[in-house]
Amino acid sequence: MLKVEALTCGYDSKFLLQDISFEIRDGELLGVIGPNGSGKTTLLKAITKVLKSQKGRIVFDGKEISQMGFKELAQKVAFVPQFSIAGVNMTVEEFVLLGRIPHRRQFQFLETEGDEQAAKQAMALAGVLQLRERSLSELSGGERQLATIARALAQEPRLLLLDEPTAHLDIGHQVKILDLVKKLNHENGLTIIVVLHDLNLASLYCDTLILLKEGKIHSIGTPEEILSYPVIEEVYETPVVVKTNPVVSKPLICLVPEDILKANRHSLNRTAKC
Ligand code: ADP
Repeated sequence: MLKVEALTCGYDSKFLLQDISFEIRDGELLGVIGPNGSGKTTLLKAITKVLKSQKGRIVFDGKEISQMGFKELAQKVAFVPQFSIAGVNMTVEEFVLLGRIPHRRQFQFLETEGDEQAAKQAMALAGVLQLRERSLSELSGGERQLATIARALAQEPRLLLLDEPTAHLDIGHQVKILDLVKKLNHENGLTIIVVLHDLNLASLYCDTLILLKEGKIHSIGTPEEILSYPVIEEVYETPVVVKTNPVVSKPLICLVPEDILKANRHSLNRTAKC
């Protein structure tokens, strides 16, 4: 579906994403991880054409995105940004209907019945239909995040991009949001790229991970391949113990405070199985 080929892009601040190449196939759930400032958000900005590539290309279904208009791209790719829409004074339904703009015909100023149906379906999928008449400014952080996902779904995209959708949410809402992401992927066939901060969530929910370090791809692979303690320590410069999650057979990353590490340096089994 989406091929990124030798992409280089960045800012005047001199930060560059360099020589990024990867592919995401139809139906995949791809996670992007890496330390703060490694370029995760920048990569999503390049895929949504917010940022122009300096070298290389991004191809969606055989067509370079640089050859697509924003409207054409927005009919295929939807983006859920990192920062929440806390101060926006509109109802959930009005906000979700904004997702229909890329589908409007020329000189169409009002929503059609089809737009209203698509928005309703998107709100139902994201579990916010009962909040449709509430103002966004009255919602909790978790509800606002679900409303933002509903707006993206109203675009009826084939590829959904989410930038740290669980940031600032409690564990209950983290699981709720990522269960929804998984359901959209498994049951609704959406292809998804999700930037995640939390390595354990990335381990639990993603099929494949891209690990970024200082603007370059350090490695691509399954959670089992990427989330080993030597790799995490090298990239994050933090000692960890990696066990196997006792509930699902996935890597479980445990942080180790420095004093405990020092006291147990020789006895700590860094890859101990549970
Ligand atoms: P991540 O999402 O991995 O935390 P980002 O992609 O947001 O990292 O940022 C990568 C680097 O680019 C950082 O050093 C950041 O300061 C810089 N950066 C991000 N946005 C801008 C911008 N609009 N202008 C200049 N530099 C930026």
